[in-house]
Amino acid sequence: MYGNDETMIAELLLQLNDLLGSDRVLTGEDLSDRYAHIWRMDEPLLAKAYLLPKSTKEVSEIMKLCHQHQQPVIVFGGLTNLVGSTESQGHEVIISMEKLNEIEEIDVMSRTITVQSGVILEQIQAQAKAQEMLFPLNFGAKGSAQIGGIISTNAGGLRVFKFGMTRQMVLGLEVVLADGTIISSMKKIIKDNSAYDLKQLFIGSEGTLGIITKAVLKLVEAPRSRNSAFIGVDDYPRVVKLLKFMDSGLAGNLSGFELIWNHSYRAFTNPDTGVKPPLPYDYPYYVLVESLGSDQDKDRLALSDLLEQAMEQDIVADAAIAHSESDIQWFWRIREDVHVLKSLCRHDQHFDISLPIPLIGEVIGTILAEAKRMEDVEECFAFGHVADGNIHFIFGKTHQSPQLISQINDLVYGKLKAIGGSVSAEHGIGKHKKPYLHLCRSAAEIALMKSLKANMDPLAILNPGTIF
Ligand SMILES: Cc1cc2nc3c(=O)[nH]c(=O)nc-3n(C[C@H](O)[C@H](O)[C@H](O)COP(=O)(O)OP(=O)(O)OC[C@H]3O[C@@H](n4cnc5c(N)ncnc54)[C@H](O)[C@@H]3O)c2cc1C
Repeated sequence: MYGNDETMIAELLLQLNDLLGSDRVLTGEDLSDRYAHIWRMDEPLLAKAYLLPKSTKEVSEIMKLCHQHQQPVIVFGGLTNLVGSTESQGHEVIISMEKLNEIEEIDVMSRTITVQSGVILEQIQAQAKAQEMLFPLNFGAKGSAQIGGIISTNAGGLRVFKFGMTRQMVLGLEVVLADGTIISSMKKIIKDNSAYDLKQLFIGSEGTLGIITKAVLKLVEAPRSRNSAFIGVDDYPRVVKLLKFMDSGLAGNLSGFELIWNHSYRAFTNPDTGVKPPLPYDYPYYVLVESLGSDQDKDRLALSDLLEQAMEQDIVADAAIAHSESDIQWFWRIREDVHVLKSLCRHDQHFDISLPIPLIGEVIGTILAEAKRMEDVEECFAFGHVADGNIHFIFGKTHQSPQLISQINDLVYGKLKAIGGSVSAEHGIGKHKKPYLHLCRSAAEIALMKSLKANMDPLAILNPGTIF
């Protein structure tokens, strides 16, 4: 591959310097404070160069040069992915989107926000809130994840149940293709059936088909109330009953329904965190619910009444309701601070599987029991977006060998094909899950995906080694 030829690289770097200026083409020593993941800032970045474009035009010119030189590139967003998709080998050029970081417009009448791809999720949420609107996407990495990375992974998070995945929130996209062509469809309209919906190709394709530079996102009216409760439940069938009970009882206002297994709840609230557990450690399952509505006091009362009824009907064993905004922050901090669990693992391995909701208790119970019997597994934390059928695991291990990684992958993924599950509910395939894609996609589907990739990026220079 051209990317390995030193003379050609030197020529490409000269051209990139001419294009961006030397302060936005980092090489050699200047790469020393750069990294490939927010959890591995101490590991040096392996790359030929680190580019900092400021506009779509510059991204396009970079790709024209890289295409001409057959130079592999990796796109960097907020570096919070959990599937190794931004890991590099050293021969790649990195295109970081951090300087494309402007919110260009918020249009309250069209209910849209137009952003460059390097804008961080938390900033979009704050900007929408300032206009009494809501950008509903929410998850633990909101302070670092960029909208370009979020769209490229079709992220889900804590409110998919009510508002859908990222895909449902994107109205328009501007994308640079592998050869530098700019595809721009920055429309603010909700309905557009004029032939193929091309933007969908780039949503969830992990930067393998194009580089997202801008997006038009859909906003909704800000809810006037937010309420939450932590709920203790005695067994999994009651969790499923509770979901149905709350969803029908709250008549469209249920926006979050997260499940935490007892062992994970203890870990999320361990004394080192300084976070008090809202409920005692007596229950096998804890459910955290959120409702969004129109009247704070009335809606809290409705949630409280519903929980009382659920107790009378023996669905719920115990519950703590949030009485203030700070209580809500306290409850959600417990669920969102996944780093607490990671920090309890000497070597960690992450999963985000999808499976039919009624089967979750039994399947996850079996995986946890089998994991306990594995000599090199020290921890296994389960929690997740149960209303979406999406459960996360974090395994803590004595070491990080390829054999142990595959052994644990086989344990978790082995059960999914037969029950129609998925190896990735929301994090994507990246570089870590490639060998397991066939468990949830047919040979014909994978062949079609590969032919799309070959057509749109024939030189395979965009995020090579990711997905396939
Ligand atoms: C604590 C924590 C909690 C998390 N919780 C959730 C959760 O609840 N739900 C969820 O879905 N995910 C979650 N994640 C995973 C992660 O936050 C998401 O995958 C997020 O969408 C990645 O965004 P990023 O900007 O960090 O992308 P990166 O990690 O930088 O990149 C991800 C992929 O997108 C590509 N990419 C980045 N920017 C662009 C661009 N502009 N154009 C084209 N390709 C691009 C990269 O090359 C890579 O393949 C969590 C992660 C952490 C650390």
